[in-house]
Amino acid sequence: MKILVINAGSSSLKFQLLESKKWQVLYKGIIDGIGLPLCEFRSSHGNKDYRQIKSQHAAFKFGIDHILASEVIKDLSEIEAVGHRIVHGGEKYVSAVKVAPTVINEIKKLSSLAPLHNPHNLEGIKASQKLLKKAPDVAIFDTAFHQTMPEKAFMYPLPEKLYKKHNIRKYGFHGTSHKYVAEEARKYLGKRKSGNLITCHLGNGASITAVKNGKSIDTSMGFTPLEGVMMGTRSGDIDPAIIFHLMDKLKMKPEKIYEMLNYESGIKGIFGKNDIRELRDEFFKKKTKKSALAFEMYCYRIAKYIGSYLVALGQLDALVFTGGIGENAWYIRKWICDYLKIELNHKKNKRVEYPQKLQKISWGTPKVLVIPTNEELQIAKETLEVLS
Ligand code: ADP
Repeated sequence: MKILVINAGSSSLKFQLLESKKWQVLYKGIIDGIGLPLCEFRSSHGNKDYRQIKSQHAAFKFGIDHILASEVIKDLSEIEAVGHRIVHGGEKYVSAVKVAPTVINEIKKLSSLAPLHNPHNLEGIKASQKLLKKAPDVAIFDTAFHQTMPEKAFMYPLPEKLYKKHNIRKYGFHGTSHKYVAEEARKYLGKRKSGNLITCHLGNGASITAVKNGKSIDTSMGFTPLEGVMMGTRSGDIDPAIIFHLMDKLKMKPEKIYEMLNYESGIKGIFGKNDIRELRDEFFKKKTKKSALAFEMYCYRIAKYIGSYLVALGQLDALVFTGGIGENAWYIRKWICDYLKIELNHKKNKRVEYPQKLQKISWGTPKVLVIPTNEELQIAKETLEVLS
């Protein structure tokens, strides 16, 4: 079966066409800058194009036209299913579902919890329903994997009615990635030796998850992706009283503070730029004070979360690194493991960058694994599961 995977964001559309027999990627594309004067298109078939694309619908059409032109399929009817990444599934969705009108309404309702994501994800579904009428759509939620968290982990110590009436609780995100790497680790280690895992998805956004017997029991992101570890541009955990201080003493507007916490904080707030590669270059070449501080804070805060999940799990079988930073930045993995006194195979750790498959980088226990994440593959697999 040929499955199209769609990740429709606020200004981008990423898509992949996969064949379910061997999970081969037939075509892969990204359209970046939707709604801006100039949009960039890149694909696995070497296409590159710049033009204005005004909507998700137009981007979807542009994408499938290119798939057709590449001749990996002869006709659009060969696309038998479409899997959509949906950021927020609230408490309603604990696994992937086939899209029906009720599902669309629920995703719409959940937009109040994820205003920056769900409306764009829905645009992707709508475009698919119009342009690929015969292919069923399946929704895969970033929050679903974390719905197994116990109450003690997902409740905030706030007046209970905020949860009961307004759904304020920890939801967690990056679920598709955490689930994928946890399953890969379990396949590699065997069930007996992988009961207790901590998965670290370190990309521009970052989250840490405690996984017990394949199920998420705690995760660092919360009601929104802002909670948790220090990220590229997000602050992660801070004292909430800072916000009231900024409103009161600096007369900052709530929207401005929200923007600052999401886009101007984290590594960018301390170092000035959010790409770890620029931080690495400045740190290793010039050892400036701000680059050392950004590194220390980033790794220390992640290590503290991992330490707290040792409490949640009791014992650790394996620590898993994934995401753009987790997969590629050996010095981040080393620094975090140094804080935790987890012994690495240093030669191996240093060599692992852009791994194509799972790599073990430790000598003893707990095992430390680097696993390239593949959210598209996970979405395609879950799409097939739902439809069969
Ligand atoms: P997103 O959260 O946007 O999905 P990714 O998982 O793709 O992010 O990670 C993007 C980040 O990964 C970049 O901002 C950069 O900091 C980091 N990164 C990418 N490649 C490398 C590399 N070779 N070495 C170190 N860091 C890298």
